[in-house]
Amino acid sequence: MTSGLTAKIYFGGYTQKVSETKQQGPASMLQAAGAAGAGPRDPLCIRFINTLDWRNDAERRVEQLTAYSELVKWSRNQHLLSAEQAKALLALAGKQQRQAEQALGRALSFREALYWLFSAVAARRAPSREDLQMLSEMHAEAAPHLRLRLENETGYGWEWASGDENLDRMLWPVARSAAELLTAGPLDRLRECERGGCGWLFVDTTRNRSRRWCAMKICGNRSKVERYYRRHRRED
Ligand SMILES: [Zn+2]
Repeated sequence: MTSGLTAKIYFGGYTQKVSETKQQGPASMLQAAGAAGAGPRDPLCIRFINTLDWRNDAERRVEQLTAYSELVKWSRNQHLLSAEQAKALLALAGKQQRQAEQALGRALSFREALYWLFSAVAARRAPSREDLQMLSEMHAEAAPHLRLRLENETGYGWEWASGDENLDRMLWPVARSAAELLTAGPLDRLRECERGGCGWLFVDTTRNRSRRWCAMKICGNRSKVERYYRRHRRED
C-alpha cells in the first residue's frame, strides 16, 4: 500500500470513533436491509460508505465492519469476491491476523475518506485535498490488477485479475466505483440523508429529484414524527 502515511493519519482520527461504536442493533439491521431505497441500486462506493450506521451520532453509531471477516462477508454479499476467494482470504487472515487487522484499518480509513469526499460533493462543497488524494492512491493501487476481457462476440468488460492473496483486494472495485462516480456522475443527484445523525449517502433517481432520506421507512417516517413532536412541544 503506497498510501501508508495518509492511511495512518485517517486511521489515527478514526480509532477513537470506532471505540465509541456499539455492536450491531436492530436499527442498524433495518438500515442495512436498505428498505425502500438506499441499497442495491446505489453505486458500490456508496454502499461501502453506508456500512457505518448513524455516522454523525456518537450515541447511536453502529459499525457493520467490526472485523476483517465482516469485511469479507460484506464483499461476498456485494459479489466482489467469489466463494473461493472469500475462503482464501479468510484462511489468509487466520494465518496473518495482524496484517488482517491492518487491512481492516485501511478499509475503514478509505471508507471515511470516501464519506467526507462525497458528503462534500453532495453539499456542493469542494472536498479536501487529502480525501481526493487517498482515492487517487487507492485507485492507482487497483489499476494494475484490472484486465480487459471479451465477454461475448460483441462486448468487452473488465475483470480483476490475480490478487487472490491480497487482503485489500475488495477495495479495488470500490476505488474504481468511486473514481467513476466522481468523474462520470451523476454527482448532481448525490445526496446525504437529511435526518440528523444518519450520514447515509444515496443517488436520488426520482424524476423530480425530491428524495430527502436514505429510506422513507427508516429516516423519512422518523423525521416526520420528530418534527411533529418538536412542533407540538412549541405549541404547549
Ligand atoms: Zn437516513
